[in-house]
Amino acid sequence: MRVPRIDIIGAGISGLATAYYLARHLNQTEKKGEIHVWEKDGNPGGLAGTFSTQDFTVEKFYHHIFRRDRALQELLSELGLAGEIVWRPAATGAYYFQQPYKLASPIDLLRFKPLPFVDRLRLGWLALHARTIKNWQSLDDISAKEYIHKVAGANVYRVVWQPLFHGKFGSYADEVSAAWLWSKLVDRGGSRNAQGHEVLGYVRGGLGQLFQALVKWLRNSGHYVHLGQAVRCLEGPEERLTSIVTEEGAFAADVIVGCAQLPELADLLPQTVETYRQELRKINFLANVCLVLTLNRSLSDFYWTNVTEGNAPFVGIIEQTNWAEPEDFNRKHVVYLSAYVNPADPRLQMDAQQLLAYYLPSIQKLFPEFTLKYVEHNATWQAAYAQPIVHVGYRHSIPAIASPLANFFVCTMAQIYPHDRQLSNGVALARQTAEIIMQCMFSG
Ligand SMILES: Cc1cc2nc3c(=O)[nH]c(=O)nc-3n(C[C@H](O)[C@H](O)[C@H](O)COP(=O)(O)OP(=O)(O)OC[C@H]3O[C@@H](n4cnc5c(N)ncnc54)[C@H](O)[C@@H]3O)c2cc1C
Repeated sequence: MRVPRIDIIGAGISGLATAYYLARHLNQTEKKGEIHVWEKDGNPGGLAGTFSTQDFTVEKFYHHIFRRDRALQELLSELGLAGEIVWRPAATGAYYFQQPYKLASPIDLLRFKPLPFVDRLRLGWLALHARTIKNWQSLDDISAKEYIHKVAGANVYRVVWQPLFHGKFGSYADEVSAAWLWSKLVDRGGSRNAQGHEVLGYVRGGLGQLFQALVKWLRNSGHYVHLGQAVRCLEGPEERLTSIVTEEGAFAADVIVGCAQLPELADLLPQTVETYRQELRKINFLANVCLVLTLNRSLSDFYWTNVTEGNAPFVGIIEQTNWAEPEDFNRKHVVYLSAYVNPADPRLQMDAQQLLAYYLPSIQKLFPEFTLKYVEHNATWQAAYAQPIVHVGYRHSIPAIASPLANFFVCTMAQIYPHDRQLSNGVALARQTAEIIMQCMFSG
């Protein structure tokens, strides 16, 4: 009898972690199953993938790990990589009205001059208030704007939060759900040390090590990871998928797990399931553009700086080497300039040179001494589906892991909610997905 196949679309954290937990379940229960992971890119990792310069290897899009990211830390540990996590305090700042402000601890909040003193207290109270709330579902019925207005006042929203939401969600800023804000406030609080400073982790040598280790583990366990091999389409009648068509050929389908982004999965599914395809398209996304500069001197004082000026073309300056150990980056200075943009934004088509030229006046406005002589290397990375728009009532738009088709399952970052699309939450979702698939495949 043929061994049942499980085909997984995408070798980001969702796809590879689902494959890993499925393979472990198969081993433990001595059930037969052959896992195939299909990845269109030549390298695994998706949004958390890495690239190399002559000096270091680093994520294409900035990544850090929170202390409470347990599922990811457990996975790293099981793969023998726990010793590669480096924990360091990371200072956060923000540019308001073209002035830099340190915003790394509660004391910094009390010194935050753009707000009157009473509003600084209200800003701090917001985080404390969020931690008293246990039922996040009720928060999902109101916007973050409404919640902040109620708990901390209009001034706190206008001066601090609205510019941040605008940076991340653009014209959708006022529609962001209060449940999403709640999880941000609660989760970030959990990463602070006794002095109130945030301690964050990174994987020395980049997260690519995690993905390579997962690929190696799966292959050593008798499964398959097909890199550089896109899935072209899925076929079948209304009730189940019958085949998966890949660049390597078409294969009869037993179980298929969609771990690419939701709109990509909707495009792959057959027209016979048009209603379900529309369901998957309910969630909209913003794209992200990151310019990664290797500099011969430091740019800012902080690891993370939010840029809140409405007309700035980037919203985050993330200076990796103001947090990471200098030796891990050959003592170079690595800076990401990040922007969340709509699909039609011209920055999605620019190469690194064009993007640097486009950003140069804005960089020099914030750092007047900056010249192109600082720049030793530049790279740019674009992701079409980088951030789901977490609107009010988002919980009602999330597709279930088990789809209406008997043999199709979905595990993607857009299903992580109200918590943010942290890798660790992706690992936890993958673990849950593997359990559901095992039950569906082998019960009865
Ligand atoms: C700017 C930015 C910063 C972030 N910062 C952090 C952070 O600090 N900490 C943190 O924990 N998380 C962070 N994240 C979130 C984290 O990167 C994501 O949650 C996670 O990587 C999503 O993984 P995924 O596997 O669900 O999706 P992806 O990583 O998007 O993986 C999907 C994969 O599917 C592949 N694919 C698509 N279509 C096909 C097809 N037809 N055939 C085959 N393969 C296909 C894609 O190539 C891709 O590799 C950040 C994300 C962004 C965008």
